[in-house]
Amino acid sequence: MQPAFNIEPYKQILTKYWGFASFKPLQEEIIKSVAGGRDTLGLMPTGGGKSLTFQVPALAHEGICLVITPLIALMKDQISRLNSLEIKSIAIHSGMSGEEIDIALENAIYGDYKFLYVSPERISTRMFQGKAGRLNLSLVAIDEAHCISQWGYDFRPSYLKIASLRDHISAKVPFIALTASATPQVIEDIMLKLAFREKNVLRTSFDRKNISYLVRKVEDKSAYLIKTLLKAKGSGIVYVRSRKRCKEVAELLVSNGISADFYHAGLTDELRDKKQASWTIGETRVIVSTNAFGMGIDKSEVRFVIHWDIPDSIENYFQESGRAGRDNKPAFAVLLYSPADKSRLTDTIRKKFPPVEKIKDTYEALCNFLQVPLGSGKDNVFDFNMSDFVSKFRLPVIETFNSLQFLQREGYVEITEEINNPSRVHFIVSRDDLYKFQVANESFDGFIKLLLRSYTGMFSEFVPINEETLSRKSAASRNTIYQYLMKLSSYKIIRYIPGKKTALVIFTEERLERKALLISPDNYLHVKEKYEVRLNRMIEYADSDNRCRSVTLLDYFGEESDRCGICDVCRDRNELDLSKYEFDLILEEIKTILADKNPDAEELVKLIGHSEDKVIKVLRWLLDHDKILKDDEMKLFWKS
Ligand code: ADP
Ligand code: MG
Repeated sequence: MQPAFNIEPYKQILTKYWGFASFKPLQEEIIKSVAGGRDTLGLMPTGGGKSLTFQVPALAHEGICLVITPLIALMKDQISRLNSLEIKSIAIHSGMSGEEIDIALENAIYGDYKFLYVSPERISTRMFQGKAGRLNLSLVAIDEAHCISQWGYDFRPSYLKIASLRDHISAKVPFIALTASATPQVIEDIMLKLAFREKNVLRTSFDRKNISYLVRKVEDKSAYLIKTLLKAKGSGIVYVRSRKRCKEVAELLVSNGISADFYHAGLTDELRDKKQASWTIGETRVIVSTNAFGMGIDKSEVRFVIHWDIPDSIENYFQESGRAGRDNKPAFAVLLYSPADKSRLTDTIRKKFPPVEKIKDTYEALCNFLQVPLGSGKDNVFDFNMSDFVSKFRLPVIETFNSLQFLQREGYVEITEEINNPSRVHFIVSRDDLYKFQVANESFDGFIKLLLRSYTGMFSEFVPINEETLSRKSAASRNTIYQYLMKLSSYKIIRYIPGKKTALVIFTEERLERKALLISPDNYLHVKEKYEVRLNRMIEYADSDNRCRSVTLLDYFGEESDRCGICDVCRDRNELDLSKYEFDLILEEIKTILADKNPDAEELVKLIGHSEDKVIKVLRWLLDHDKILKDDEMKLFWKS
């Protein structure tokens, strides 16, 4: 018989490491399921607290937890948070050299690490698969699990290789998959593609009761924004599509006396950190941003999120608007929608799906740019600078970007976000040999001592260093420090990897001949269709004026709900001065009557046992919202 599950040890860990007194909704249930050794899919909106559902059980159990997550920046962020809590954690991603990855894996196998974070494209490499069996795994956690589904909005083929891990590891190790984006189709797909041993989904409601969803059909978005922000209280986000618009809109707000700043991925890390920090502490009231703003936002009192442009899926919209009101106090999510937006969106589709021949051109140009010969390149990692690439081959930027996206979705290459890799140093001689070297080469003695004083762990692994800091500490120029490092490296005392900031391209397959590059028309259309379906659901959301916004959003995620009473559609109805209950009751009666006869308005009112006044209000609302039609003889019909 199974002993009863005891949550206490898990609670103690929660308090000891994170200082939280209790679990958030569903965290306990997910932990219980995982602790029972069951494959588990956990669904919670962003900010629901998904990380702790694998971090807490991993700490309670013996062994190491393998975490798969797609964004390297987020991975680094989590690792440094864990390490600052004195929980030993290590990462493997494509920004690391083969040697570094090898050392990290050995450490994960023999060291007492609790977490090994791995980016998905590393899972299928021979090195990883070869060693995975030797990891003493407690748990495999798959974050952003929707990336495994072609039905999802962020499909990454490398996620499909995760299930093959099961061939190399003990069958006892449970998989925990987590996502904030879960249409019914994606949910099924995740469990299927991860080869869940049994179906097991735990979900919290995605209902954000304190958010008022509003769609504003306005021609003049600027005027609307200024008017609204002058009236609104508190701090918020305005999302716009382009970097250029970010700056323009922020300037517009500032010139109207509203505290605002802009943010996008084209700014330096320092500047972005500064802008984000200033907004977080409330110095800047409004941040105008592209969708680059979001990662790692930890601000609960966001009063409004306004979308200047319509996002291309409900998933994106829900995620971005969901940054409002984490403190559970009233907040607004506003979508600005003008008639011109629809045709612009159709245009987006055309750009997003370049002709197949263009995609193949891009592939060949990329291989030539990176000098990958035919038949080779598999698992190779290259630094990649998009603007060098397009300027060298005189390629159109957007079409090229989208062609690369397509090649990624088809599993030929993987392209990472731009990542910031610090310089790293690893001593490759023993302490004794180092000592002998110091004695024989006095001129290096001071520098080596400085290194050893400043950093620890360099004998067993690559350790991030900062040339700037060393230069300050030693009053030597940055270049002198660099020269020392290069020389020690050439004497084979250390391995030195200078830092850099770059995006990477990883070849998941060897370079193929043009004709072997399979982008079948069927598949191409299929991918395009799925994109269009997602886009159309978003347009429906914006276009509709008779369905509760919350109901529409939740329905998309497979959740049934009552109308919220606070979105623009519900407010319209509220103005009728009827309770929601009365409104629905009368609506149902009208619907029933119109199902078998077609009276005119006057006859209809008589048929219903409510005050005439109220019936007329509901009837007028239904006519205004095209739920009921009148024919030439003024007879009423229920539409659809
Ligand atoms: P998600 O991955 O679901 O978006 P995170 O795991 O990043 O969410 O957690 C969101 C925030 O909630 C973090 O700041 C985290 O520290 C906090 N949090 C998580 N669990 C708890 C808890 N039990 N009590 C209080 N705060 C929590
Ligand atoms: Mg998360």
